[in-house]
Amino acid sequence: MTTKAREYHLAARPKGMPTPDDFRLVERELADPGPGEVLVRNDVLSVDPYMRGRMNDVKSYVPPFALDAPMDGGAVGTVIASGDASVPVGASVLHTAGWRDYALIPARGATVVDTRLAPAGRYLGALGTTGLTAWGGLMIAAEFKPGDTVFVSGAAGAVGSLVGQIAKLSGAARVVGSAGGADKARSLVERFGYDAALDYRAGDLRGQLAEAAPDGIDVYFDNVGGEHLEAALAAARRGGRIALCGAIAQYNDTEAPAAPRNLALAIGKRLTLRGFIVLDYAPRHAEFAAQMAPWLASGQIVAAETVVHGLENTLDAFLALFSGGNTGKMLIELG
Ligand code: NDP
Repeated sequence: MTTKAREYHLAARPKGMPTPDDFRLVERELADPGPGEVLVRNDVLSVDPYMRGRMNDVKSYVPPFALDAPMDGGAVGTVIASGDASVPVGASVLHTAGWRDYALIPARGATVVDTRLAPAGRYLGALGTTGLTAWGGLMIAAEFKPGDTVFVSGAAGAVGSLVGQIAKLSGAARVVGSAGGADKARSLVERFGYDAALDYRAGDLRGQLAEAAPDGIDVYFDNVGGEHLEAALAAARRGGRIALCGAIAQYNDTEAPAAPRNLALAIGKRLTLRGFIVLDYAPRHAEFAAQMAPWLASGQIVAAETVVHGLENTLDAFLALFSGGNTGKMLIELG
């Protein structure tokens, strides 16, 4: 027997903002699993900003997507046929064969998750890579301390909305977030408990940050780069720490970014700027989960999600990350 699957392929390397012509939704037949393989029907897919980097043919910490081959990414699915007793039919599994509805994968690449404890999407978001990024970036890269004033960009997004909440629960003196648009900025305070919010689309980021954090900031969690980083460097107090998580403002740029123009401030202010990749913190996943799971279960942390339905809408969901179409984790539900 075979299973008909649909999967996204990268058809061309995008220049600037990707367009639908750069992708193809392809049908193919999957064989039954052999020994050590499982056939999975995907239930939830993740789309993430880092995938934009994988569309370029450059060396990085993850290999680029190959042209005319299935793209991959985080997914949770249900095993529908199994060639490995340790991953039985009916199990929910976390794996990396996303961007498709069915996947034939090695059983060793499938981690069984318990969807009675948390919904499938949570293992891609707050309890998964997204949550570990927020926690590790704040606690380890930025060396957060109680009493810190924290500034977060991309603060209504998957990672950012968690960073602000973790900082508050961990004893931050003040948490300031930045997001695009007045409504999103308001949601930072009303939904995610930020003390103050900036709408970067309203302009004068530096002025807005100076007003929101009049005594300066100790920690900046950077999801955006560019002018946000410049504003944070200006606002940083002596000995401040900056976690460089992402720079989404420049992922589609075709020219070098203009900002930050004030990096030399880091010298006199004795700042630490530390880049990190979430994989660095994989060995501390258990420690992270032990903190995060009770926060989620008790409702102390809101795990916001934007859910799009249907495989054929995966690409639109991915592209919407670059225009702020999501609040919290962007997920695609299939079936
Ligand atoms: P998000 O859920 O935050 O989605 C992206 C958000 O970025 C959008 O909702 C939008 O929010 C904002 N955005 C898009 N374009 C711009 C722009 N030009 N200027 C300012 N904001 C913009 O994604 P994630 O939480 O998954 O990722 C957040 C960041 O963390 C990304 O930079 C990502 O690459 C990085 N990351 C890094 C990891 C690591 O290991 N270092 C791991 C995971 C993520 P708005 O409406 O506010 O504009």
